[in-house]
Amino acid sequence: MHKRFSGSFTQQSALPEASLRAAERVLGSAALHRYQTDDGQQSETACLEQEFANWQGADYCLAVASGGQAMQLALRAAGVAIGDPVLTNAFTLAPVPGAIRAVGAAPVLVEITRDLVIDLDDLEQKVKSSGAKVLLLSHMRGHIPDMTAIMQIVQAADVTVIEDCAHTMGATWQGEKSGNFGTFGCFSTQTYKHMNSGEGGLLTTGDPTLAAKAIIMSGSYMNYDRHGAMPGPMYFADAKYDCPNMSARMDNLRAAILRPQLERLDEAVAGWNQRAKLIAEKLLGLSPYVYCPKALDGAMRVGSSIQFCLPGQTAAQCQAVVRDLATRGVEVKWFGHAEPHGFTSQHKHWRYMDAQSLPQTDEVIQTLFDMRVPLSFDEADCLLIADILVEVLQAQAIAGEAA
Ligand SMILES: *Cc1c(COP(=O)(O)O)cnc(C)c1O
Repeated sequence: MHKRFSGSFTQQSALPEASLRAAERVLGSAALHRYQTDDGQQSETACLEQEFANWQGADYCLAVASGGQAMQLALRAAGVAIGDPVLTNAFTLAPVPGAIRAVGAAPVLVEITRDLVIDLDDLEQKVKSSGAKVLLLSHMRGHIPDMTAIMQIVQAADVTVIEDCAHTMGATWQGEKSGNFGTFGCFSTQTYKHMNSGEGGLLTTGDPTLAAKAIIMSGSYMNYDRHGAMPGPMYFADAKYDCPNMSARMDNLRAAILRPQLERLDEAVAGWNQRAKLIAEKLLGLSPYVYCPKALDGAMRVGSSIQFCLPGQTAAQCQAVVRDLATRGVEVKWFGHAEPHGFTSQHKHWRYMDAQSLPQTDEVIQTLFDMRVPLSFDEADCLLIADILVEVLQAQAIAGEAA
């Protein structure tokens, strides 16, 4: 009998009891809108902003409707105008090039390395050739590049960095939290990220002028003084006249659900990392048939998902791996599909922008697999999944050699 896993890869861990009670309290009050407060009272949303800013170590924080909205507001506040080139990783999730297109700008895609981080040589070259003044740096699947080197490259060329931290909430580079290197950090609280409010986003920055612009654009009307982590009134003097309202607010119900999760986030990060380590260690034994992207020295990832590549394998072999794992109850995604698939797509599918040649990225994602590591898995689950991965991949390697 082959081993089989029967758990769910998409089951979320239960929300904390405190989230349920807070949600009931907000629903009972019917005060769902973030500016629906009595004098002197702080809304759930404002409290979340303050608490997230403290946790992240950022001066300012704005709670918004989604991670995508956080990126769009950051791009707009950074002054990106229609037709401007904006650099971003060639391997990322569709809302990233989507945010660039939403503000009318033109994505310039930068190659990634086999460790799934932006390629510094290609970045340096495209900073020069594109003339772009903004880099929307996506920490896709939690892989953190050499932030010290990136900041050197961009500062020399006066390029503003916006970090997409949808997968790096809680991750660090040399002890500093991801999101604090660029001018902005953009976070998502969509169900499949590190905190779960269904949909939602958080935007952080240390720049008071840009924070004020983002707050006004998020749809604060003249309630901008009712935010939890905002700059002083002088910063709004022009912003309140100059910035259009784009209605991207978070509401009190989501904020209420998130606050107790934030209290437990460090614990959750440790939990993901324990689980991912158990699985990743077993895969190391299959090298070089299997290549596991390595964290750079200095990077602390959050192991809410793991990735591996099968260098040199064909599309048919990759599809066989997905199929064989599925029959054993192990759900992995493959990024090499010719057509967009589920949540995944690749740059060749993004016809809303100019087609670009990215041979190095293509080679990596052609055999790249991705597996979620939910906190609902216990240690025994992780070990069973690791055993199944090893068995299926080993069988494929042997079949490949024989063919
Ligand atoms: C989910 C995700 C986003 C956007 O988050 P939403 O809240 O769904 O808009 C951005 N970047 C990456 C890499 C993501 O996975």
